[in-house]
Amino acid sequence: MTGVTVYSAGLVIPITAPPIPGGAIAVAGGRIRHVGDRAWVIAELAARGEAFDEVHWPGVLMPGLVNAHSHLQYTGMAEVGRGGYAGFGDWSAAFDAVYAGGRDWRSDAAAGARMMIEAGTTAVADIVTDAEAGGALHEAGLGGITYWEVMSWTGPAWAATGRAQVEAALDALPSPPGTGLSPHAPYSLDALPLQEIPDIVRERGGRIHLHLGEAAFEREELPPLRDPLPWHDSLPGSFRELRGAGYGTGATEFVDRLGVLGPDCHIAHGVYMTSRDRALLRARGTSVALCPRSNAVIGLDEPPVAAYLVEGSGIAVGTDSLSSSPSLDLLADVAALHRIARAQGYTDRDLAERLLRAATLGGAHALGIDTGPDRTGYLAVGALADLAFLDAPTVDAVDAVELLASDGAGRVAATLIAGVARHTSPTFADTTGVRA
Ligand SMILES: [Zn+2]
Repeated sequence: MTGVTVYSAGLVIPITAPPIPGGAIAVAGGRIRHVGDRAWVIAELAARGEAFDEVHWPGVLMPGLVNAHSHLQYTGMAEVGRGGYAGFGDWSAAFDAVYAGGRDWRSDAAAGARMMIEAGTTAVADIVTDAEAGGALHEAGLGGITYWEVMSWTGPAWAATGRAQVEAALDALPSPPGTGLSPHAPYSLDALPLQEIPDIVRERGGRIHLHLGEAAFEREELPPLRDPLPWHDSLPGSFRELRGAGYGTGATEFVDRLGVLGPDCHIAHGVYMTSRDRALLRARGTSVALCPRSNAVIGLDEPPVAAYLVEGSGIAVGTDSLSSSPSLDLLADVAALHRIARAQGYTDRDLAERLLRAATLGGAHALGIDTGPDRTGYLAVGALADLAFLDAPTVDAVDAVELLASDGAGRVAATLIAGVARHTSPTFADTTGVRA
């Protein structure tokens, strides 16, 4: 192949521009050089005297998907995900029993990375609990952020040895991609580590990601039993201690007081959130990765996606892991969100478009990879050529967007990461001559 490849399609969905019937992008050096109508892109190249090869796909071309919450390490724990549970505690017990047995985390994570690429994913927020799984994104060439998970530290143990151990584990994560820390949840760590973890990350310019609003008891108890919070003078030891003392403080307000939230942080789930909690997330510039199929397996309530949409919150989409979800196909979660939003009364016609945006640019923004030299999550000049080709009729652009958002699972025909074909279906290979 020559230096420039034109990828033309029945419909190009750039996300940051209107869908382009008969559109194309030009790619060179792993980056997007032009985006527009196919004839215009070709004329631009011709005007510059640049030779190119063309790959034509009659279906849809859109940015690669960004899976904004997962644990690739748990890919081999699908037996847990096939169960049905009555809530977070119930699921946790089943998870712990299998986790304790141990597995080949590295090969499980690699298998998960492969499934994600086959589902059109090009960047991932991947939480790692055991070091053997820490190279999954790096080895698969996936973009995104690898987060080292931190949990179960008491304040004194953290001060004595925890902080140093976590800093060493963070610094040992293979890069690229970017790295960060994931304080597991507000209730599984004392306040001291929760307060210090963001500093460790921010000193290094990394990212923060935590589970928030996944367990029902995290929700603010109204009316407050005691108010105001006593921590002008002293930090409560932990969220559980605060609750035990009779305060109804919600987990979101708790982590906010500790300085955890911010534009360099995103949360997963956000199911049990009051409107005040959601406003706090917006005020801090913190996005939420919604994982509706995982919530259903665990037996949680549905996430308030209609409220997030109406209120203008930053939303992304995650599959979570196979230990709580039927597949790593992000478009299946998009379809679930589409159904839930309609059931919750969201009637605007922009639903499909906003959900496809959440699964691409919304995820990239949540992970902080939507700007800078290696920006991704949308098709625009200079962005990485992270691409997903999908099998869908393109006669009508509105219908195509609606179909992908409501029934997009299993439709990915090819995935390119930084311009390199990493997955091609037999149909895509036969149609285009491109094989991964
Ligand atoms: Zn999770």
